[in-house]
Amino acid sequence: MSEEKTIFKRIIDGEIPADIIYEDDQCLAFKDVNPQAPVHVLVIPRKEIPSIAHLDDDDGPLMGHLLLTVRNLARDLGLEDGFRVVVNTGEQGGQTVDHLHIHLLGQRALTWPPG
Ligand code: AMP
Repeated sequence: MSEEKTIFKRIIDGEIPADIIYEDDQCLAFKDVNPQAPVHVLVIPRKEIPSIAHLDDDDGPLMGHLLLTVRNLARDLGLEDGFRVVVNTGEQGGQTVDHLHIHLLGQRALTWPPG
């Protein structure tokens, strides 16, 4: 795990731009720069947590808040026909940015299993 600031921490700190569609005191949501579906949003905590594997027991309310934010965004973005929530974790999980993030994907028929 790198000690350098992640690209998502730099977005939180306002050092690089992002298409932010929602923010509050605990999290922010912005459009993925390389969208895999017509709607592809990332929801991230302001707290620097590298991945799900690094959660503390007392991060439960924060994780609940992130999922409720996903629910609200899905509603606001018109994903009433369904959507997918993905949290890639660690090297074999395909995680490329070491700051916990929830992918919200929708507005197309998503297949299963994923690659
Ligand atoms: P993961 O592979 O689960 O770690 O997902 C990282 C995601 O971050 C990828 O879908 C990237 O396209 C996305 N991403 C990387 N840099 C940026 C950025 N500067 N702004 C928005 N999305 C980004």
